[in-house]
Amino acid sequence: MQATFSPHTVRSSFAAPGARRAAALQPQLRMRAQAHRDELALRRSAPRGARRGTGFACKAMDLPELGEVTDEDREYMKMCLDLARTAEGKTDPNPMVGAVIVKDGNIVGMGFHPKAGQPHAEVFALRAAGERADGATAYVSLEPCNHFGRTPPCSQALVGAKISRVVVGMVDPDPRVSGGGLWTCKNAGLEVCAIGGELEEECKSLNKGFIERVLAAKAEEEAKAGSS
Ligand SMILES: [Zn+2]
Repeated sequence: MQATFSPHTVRSSFAAPGARRAAALQPQLRMRAQAHRDELALRRSAPRGARRGTGFACKAMDLPELGEVTDEDREYMKMCLDLARTAEGKTDPNPMVGAVIVKDGNIVGMGFHPKAGQPHAEVFALRAAGERADGATAYVSLEPCNHFGRTPPCSQALVGAKISRVVVGMVDPDPRVSGGGLWTCKNAGLEVCAIGGELEEECKSLNKGFIERVLAAKAEEEAKAGSS
């Protein structure tokens, strides 16, 4: 059902509240944008190994160089969050994720992860976009997965669909991904960006339980590795 959103439906159901919210948040948005630019500059000036991902209390994630994000990017990320929330309470043990694909200022695909065992958000969005994904920007509230699980990696699906730019809401704390999804895209020539700021915090709080579980499992693994 979610695979066939028309740009019209999408605009009427999502763009209007988003735009109102954006107007109310203009000063904060500018401040947030500046804070994000500062953070990016810091990250770029740090030696590669020392670059931190998105503030998790875990080992430094080695991320590719990230591109700039705009207010427009933030609006699309808010749509991803709204889409992700439509599956609230249904995705366990997986996270809630939303994806939007935008080509020349038009939404050409949207999707969300409906439940464990079902395709990921990116897959639905790419299906809806079809050939229009060529040269488009993909927004995803969580870094695209990079491993073969029950589904093939979304990072490769984005590359295969000729997406030219990927904007993520947060880096995936799952050690099987942790920057790997971004690297796969970057290495294939895509521009990769992280939304940063308050929206990143929103993406994290959306999947608080998932993140805590993944980080706890990771800490346990590390403790085991350290004691053996
Ligand atoms: Zn995936």
